Amino acid sequence: MLDRYSLYSLLGHNTFGIDVKAAQFVEFDSEEELINIISSGIQKPVLTIGAGSNLLFMNDFKGTVLHSRIYGAEVIAESGNDVLLRVGSGMNWDNLIAYTVEMGWQGLENLSIIPGEVGASAVQNVGAYGVEAGDFIERVDAIALCDGSKRCFSKDECRYSYRNSIFKMEEKDKYVITYVTYRLRKKPEYVLDYANLRDLVAAKGALTPALLREVIKEVRSAKLPDVSVLGSAGSFFMNPVVSREHAAELAMQYPQMPQYDTADGRKKLSAAWLIDTCGWKGKKVGNVGVYKSQPLVIVNYGGATGKEILDFSMQIVASVKEKFGVTLVREVNVIE
Ligand SMILES: Cc1cc2nc3c(=O)[nH]c(=O)nc-3n(C[C@H](O)[C@H](O)[C@H](O)COP(=O)(O)OP(=O)(O)OC[C@H]3O[C@@H](n4cnc5c(N)ncnc54)[C@H](O)[C@@H]3O)c2cc1C
Repeated sequence: MLDRYSLYSLLGHNTFGIDVKAAQFVEFDSEEELINIISSGIQKPVLTIGAGSNLLFMNDFKGTVLHSRIYGAEVIAESGNDVLLRVGSGMNWDNLIAYTVEMGWQGLENLSIIPGEVGASAVQNVGAYGVEAGDFIERVDAIALCDGSKRCFSKDECRYSYRNSIFKMEEKDKYVITYVTYRLRKKPEYVLDYANLRDLVAAKGALTPALLREVIKEVRSAKLPDVSVLGSAGSFFMNPVVSREHAAELAMQYPQMPQYDTADGRKKLSAAWLIDTCGWKGKKVGNVGVYKSQPLVIVNYGGATGKEILDFSMQIVASVKEKFGVTLVREVNVIE
């Protein structure tokens, strides 16, 4: 059943804990309900949210906030090697991973306990420990906000790259994702080359998707704040990518600076290292600060506004630019 509210508090719908309201807030349970909402006229602008774990609200939202309550996961094809699973966009992301691990379908376990919902995984191309959601997405079903028509995006059309997709570029805010179809493996191909995963797993016993998920949960919980205690949106910035020439100059000056090759021949730097080296880890200004165990995470110690958090983040950007000549780019979606 459709739920529609006016002047609705978004406090419980963003993990930064920003106290703003939406002029209209609408939750739908099916594609048909969503199409009806769109064709009966919708107050603009329109923002589709999931769990609000990558949003930073600056003000009350003057238009309509949409939220999917399309749940459920259905196997639509299966072979000896893999399974195609079509999942409702409102499903909790970690519940999906728990389910796939239980069923013995491998692929997503490195992405365990990333907050959020299935719809956003296809927008954000969520990633962790060497794996990205886009590696497993086969198809994305969506409804166009302009006329309520149905559209199906193939994996290639989604144009996945580091924390990016077509839904963050030319199709930004034009579609509401209703279903995401993932291709998962029956024969495991684990990714263990990050954060000492291989050793941590080996210390615990025979490698299975369930064991890897447990290890990932432990590693993440030790490093990242619990959003029910401390507001945040995870990594505030992306890892910057610079030219080989710029990377070589930086390596001469800072031999200990981590640098990683990218597919296009450039170098990716660690935003966490850059921020830490500028002395930000654990720093607090008013109600906002950099998390003590992970310098990429900005936290709301309580009552901060979106503007305070954004201003604080701009101070970090300025100091990294001044010290290293590198411009940090936000991962968090700022909503004006
Ligand atoms: C503690 C913490 C740790 C995190 N760790 C990671 C991590 O390791 N890796 C990582 O990649 N991210 C991480 N994140 C960020 C966040 O969890 C992801 O970006 C997640 O995918 C956001 O999901 P969401 O449902 O909360 O989306 P929201 O924040 O609500 O929305 C994110 C974007 O997706 C769009 N969107 C959401 N749902 C739909 C839909 N149905 N249709 C169309 N557009 C939609 C929104 O408009 C917005 O642009 C972390 C966040 C936190 C708080």
